[in-house]
Amino acid sequence: MPIATVNPANGETLKTYEALGAEEIERRLAAAETAFRTYRTTSFAERARLLHRAADLLEEDRRDVARVMTTEMGKPIKQARAEVAKCAKAMRWYADHAEELLADEESAESEAKDSGASRVLVRYRPLGPVLAVMPWNFPLWQVIRFAAPALMAGNVGLLKHASNVPQTALYLEDLFHRAGFLEGCFQTLLIGSGKVEDVLRDGRVRAATLTGSEPAGRAVASVAGDEVKKTVLELGGSDPFVVMPSADVDRAAKTAVTARVQNTGQSCIAAKRFIVHTDVFDAFAERFTAGMEALKVGDPMDEDTEVGPLSSERGRSDLEELVDDAVEAGATVLCGAERPEGSGWYYAPTVLADVTPDMRIHREEAFGPVATLYRAADLEEAIAIANDSPFGLSSNVWTRDEDEVDRFARDLEAGGVYVNGMTASHPAFPFGGVKRSGYGRELSGHGIREFCNITTVWHG
Ligand code: NAP
Repeated sequence: MPIATVNPANGETLKTYEALGAEEIERRLAAAETAFRTYRTTSFAERARLLHRAADLLEEDRRDVARVMTTEMGKPIKQARAEVAKCAKAMRWYADHAEELLADEESAESEAKDSGASRVLVRYRPLGPVLAVMPWNFPLWQVIRFAAPALMAGNVGLLKHASNVPQTALYLEDLFHRAGFLEGCFQTLLIGSGKVEDVLRDGRVRAATLTGSEPAGRAVASVAGDEVKKTVLELGGSDPFVVMPSADVDRAAKTAVTARVQNTGQSCIAAKRFIVHTDVFDAFAERFTAGMEALKVGDPMDEDTEVGPLSSERGRSDLEELVDDAVEAGATVLCGAERPEGSGWYYAPTVLADVTPDMRIHREEAFGPVATLYRAADLEEAIAIANDSPFGLSSNVWTRDEDEVDRFARDLEAGGVYVNGMTASHPAFPFGGVKRSGYGRELSGHGIREFCNITTVWHG
């Protein structure tokens, strides 16, 4: 895949980039190691000052950086600006909380004594240069979600971004540089995925985080396993959205539309499978389908566009194949299932009913504005359908029955259970999945500790 900006709204190639050669990669790895030696000893206050400065600059650049993202991967411009704001918020959150999250932990006196010590402390120390392999779908947020905690913990970052968002990738390096971080603290490596293995095997790189598809995660984790390096994997999802009879069906249907089509449906935590109790199935299906049909699809630079083009031609054809396979196997099209006329990689918001386990879409991730509807006879069946997926990222449940809430929170195989709302990440709460959605957590105290050397300091 060439490293290039190709506008998904019209297919036009706007800018191409040469991948870095071996010498330049070496120079950058050396810079990362040198920077780490000094940066690891800086105070939390100094790191916080730099990160707040980066957040200020990002906010100043809000309009321009949003336009770059929309040009590179096609997200509606309003959503691009919201992404920028979310990033600045997360940077400030980590700047303000990292010291407390990583404070030394003093063990109980009785336990220290029991080990023969006068005192035992647990200290969170940084690991070193961390490689971040990132996807295009939230090209700023995915990176900041890694970079803010990593930099506050005293690590340094090497970003291998998706090949279709090079301008956003270069912007990020420039942002941290302008904020005053030491040279080498945060660098972008413009390389193809074929070069990731070499970088990861380099002894100076201590760990890796990957957000992306399952095959990419498997490839990176295999190499990291071979090198005995820690990884965090944030992979795909096919989140359930369960609606029970006691739910506010109107609100559920409205939220369901947003939960499915945010970022033109290209979100790992988008609700993708809608599992509805038979008592409210018809009412929900009607309102949800009407909502999907009413969406404004169009030029992502228009302020009122709700659904833009998919990020690539391949992305659209993959999605189309999943829909065609389901329709051939008997799924009912309630709306969409077609390409609108004209240029750009658009796909109409689509709702499919009568989906069965033999269809590919039942097990694979639909990365675009396509929803599948399932009918459940009761709570047990709803949970069984929800868990019948290789993925386990997050989940959404709509009910006003507290016993049902307890059952969902106990039994859904996912890293999140969002009750009467849709999944959305927040810096204070852990984010990540189980099963094929990956392992490890980002955000919150759990996220910042993933790339720490958790050290026992024992005093005799
Ligand atoms: P992708 O094709 O897996 O690409 C993600 C990153 O991995 C890119 O930088 C890509 O580089 C690189 N890559 C691909 N194959 C690789 C390999 N064999 N070895 C090393 N690096 C490799 O995924 P995508 O299409 O950009 O993103 C969509 C996927 O990401 C979806 O499955 C989505 O659910 C998932 N996602 C998960 C989360 C989460 O938090 N769990 C969040 C967002 C997205 P190139 O671009 O150069 O190929």
